[in-house]
Amino acid sequence: MAKKTDADVLKSPELAEGFTAYLVRLDLEDRRYRDAECKLAIVQAEGFARENKFKQAGSKFAEAMSHLVGSQIMVPLDPANGGGVKCPVYMNFTMDECLTAMTCCNGAAVNLFESDELVKALDWSLEVDVLHKNIRFMNKALFDWDIYTPSPPSLEFQRQRLLGLVTASDVLLKLGNTGAAAYCRNVGNDLVRSLPSRVDEYSLRREILPVASTKAVMEYRHPDPSIYRSLEIINPDLQVRGSWQRLKWADSSKVTSRMAHACFIYKSHLYVCGGQRSGTLEVYSDIWCLDLVGMRGWRQLPSYKQPFLNCQMAVHDGKAYLFRGHAMVDYLDLERERWGRIQTNFVSAKGKKLAWPYTESLTDYVAHVFEGKIYVFGGKYQRPLGCNYFAVLDIATKSWTYLSGIHDSVKLTPDYEQPGVRKDLASWVDEERKKIYIMYGMADRQEAAIFESDFASSDGFVYDDCWSWDITEGKWQRERVLGNFPCPRAEVACSYNPTTKQTVMFGGYSPALPFFVESSTTSFGFNYFSDTFVLDHSTPDGAPRWKQVITGNFPTYRAQSQLMTDPATGRMYLFGGYTNTDWVPTGKHDLTRSYGDVWQLRVDVPGGLFEDVDWADERRAAQLGPWMACYVCGSVGVWKKCGGTCDGRVYFCTPNCQKEGWPEHKQKHGCRR
Ligand SMILES: [Zn+2]
Ligand SMILES: [Zn+2]
Repeated sequence: MAKKTDADVLKSPELAEGFTAYLVRLDLEDRRYRDAECKLAIVQAEGFARENKFKQAGSKFAEAMSHLVGSQIMVPLDPANGGGVKCPVYMNFTMDECLTAMTCCNGAAVNLFESDELVKALDWSLEVDVLHKNIRFMNKALFDWDIYTPSPPSLEFQRQRLLGLVTASDVLLKLGNTGAAAYCRNVGNDLVRSLPSRVDEYSLRREILPVASTKAVMEYRHPDPSIYRSLEIINPDLQVRGSWQRLKWADSSKVTSRMAHACFIYKSHLYVCGGQRSGTLEVYSDIWCLDLVGMRGWRQLPSYKQPFLNCQMAVHDGKAYLFRGHAMVDYLDLERERWGRIQTNFVSAKGKKLAWPYTESLTDYVAHVFEGKIYVFGGKYQRPLGCNYFAVLDIATKSWTYLSGIHDSVKLTPDYEQPGVRKDLASWVDEERKKIYIMYGMADRQEAAIFESDFASSDGFVYDDCWSWDITEGKWQRERVLGNFPCPRAEVACSYNPTTKQTVMFGGYSPALPFFVESSTTSFGFNYFSDTFVLDHSTPDGAPRWKQVITGNFPTYRAQSQLMTDPATGRMYLFGGYTNTDWVPTGKHDLTRSYGDVWQLRVDVPGGLFEDVDWADERRAAQLGPWMACYVCGSVGVWKKCGGTCDGRVYFCTPNCQKEGWPEHKQKHGCRR
C-alpha cells in the first residue's frame, strides 16, 4: 500500500501512479510466492495424513494457512481482530486463495480431530464458515436467510464449506452436543439441496453428507436421554459439570403456570409478571414475588392495569420499568409496591424532539439497564419479521435517543454492518467491558406468511450470529461463535452472571431445525431444547468459547422460560415457559402446556456454588425432562418416585430394582419407609 508520506515525497502524479502500480505488482508477486509456499506445505501435510500422522498433518495444514495469510493475522483466531468475524485479509482474497485457505482449515480440522484435539478441531472447522462469510461480505449483500452461491458457481467452494460443517458436526457429536451437531448437518443439507445441478448434489451426498447421517442426528432430542445419561466430561475446555435442582417453598402457594411473562430479581426476591397460560386465552396482569432466601412462598403484589405478553421489565433504583412501545413508560415502585409512570420523549442527538418511532405496541424485544439507561433492541411492532431498532432511554432525563437499526416504515435491505431484524433473541450485558451482546433469535418468516407480507416462507428462520455493541464507542461488531456452542435458537433463557463472569443459556425453540421421531414416519419441522451452555468471557487467548453444562437432572424441554442471576448471591434461577406436548409426549395435556416451576442452576466454576453437589449421585437419580433414570439399572422411562421419606429423590423402574437398590438408597440418602 502506498502511504501518504510516499506520495508526498514523489509529488509528481505520474510518478505516484507508477509507484502505486509497482507496489501492486510487488504485492501480487508476494501473494504468488506465499501461495506457492502454502501449496507446498499442503502437499507435505497430505503426505503426513496418508501415513496416519494426524498431529503432524494438522500442524502442517495450519502452517500452510499461515504462509497464505502472511504475517498480518493469526489463524484461526486473531486477537488483533478482537474476535470479530470480518477479516480484511480474507475479504481481499481471490476465489482461488479462498479455496486454498478452506483446504488448509479443513485439513487442520480433520487431522486435529483424529488426534483428539477437540478445541482446535472445532476452531479450524468453524474458520471455514468464517471464510465463507467473508467471501459473502465482499459480494452483493444478501439477507441472512439467502444461501450464497459464488458466481460463477464453484462446486469446490460449496464442497469445502460442507466439509467444514460435517467436521464440526462430528466433533460436536463426540462431545454429546446433539443440538449443534444436528444444526451443522442441517445447514449442510440445505446447502446441498440448493445446488443447481442434481449431479453435484449426488456427488456431494455420496462423498460428504449421506442422507442417513443427517437423519440419524435429527432423531435426537437435545439433550437426548439415551446419550446424555452416560455423557462424560471428555474435554474440560468444552464441557463443565453442573446441577439443575427444582426448588420447593414452605407453603402451598403457587403461581399459575405461564409463558410470555416478564421476570426479574430484586433484593433476592424473584418477581413474575404477566404472561399467558399456554393453550388458553387467559392473559395475565398479576405480579407475584418469592423470597429466594426464606423460600416461604409466593406473595401477590398489585396487578398491572392490563394483561400483557412478551414484554420485559428492567430494574433501576428500586423501580421495575415495563416498556410496551409507548412514550408513557410504566413502572412498579418495588419499595412502596405501587405503580407509577413517566412521560418520555424521543430526541435527536442535539436534543431536538422527534416523532415517536414505535407505531404499535412493542413485544418480543430485549431490554437491559446499564448506568441509569434502558437499552431496547429488536422485537416486533409492525413488521411481522421483527425489527432491529435499537434505542436507549436515559431515565434521569426521560429522553430516548436512537442508536442503530431501521424503522419499520423503511424498505428492508440486506446490511452486513448491523444485526438483522429479529424477535425472541438472546441478549446480555457485560458490565465490565461495557458491551451489550445480542445473539440468535428469529426473523419470523412464518408470521410474515400469515400476514401475507414480504419475505414470507413456510420455513422458519433462526439467525446464527452474535453481535456486540460497544457502549463507549457506539458501534456493532459481528462476533465469532466458538467452542461447544448452543445451536441457533429463539425464545431461549439467557442470563449474564457477574459473579462467574459467564453468560448462561438454557432451552429455547427452533422453527428451522427438524426432529424425526425414531422408528416412525412422524417428523416435526421444529425443536424444543433443554440443554444448558455457558460462555466463558475470561478465556486466556481472548476468544470466549462456549461449554456445554452436563447435569444430572434437567427441566423439561421448553421455550420462553426466564433465567435470572441474583446479583447479590450469584445464584441462578429459572422460571416457567411452555412446551409442545406432541413433541414431548406427556400423555395428559393438550397440544401445549406451560410451567410454573422454579429451578436453580449450579455450575462447577469458582463462584458457581457447586461445592455441595454430589454430581455422580445426581446423575444416577436423574429426572431427564419428562423422563426418569432408574437409580439401579439406569434405564430411562416414566418411573415411579421412591415413596419413602426422601421425598421422591430417586426413581425405580420395577419392584425388583427397588428391592435391589433399597439398602444403598436407605444408607446414602437416609430414606425410611
Ligand atoms: Zn431399574
Ligand atoms: Zn426414598
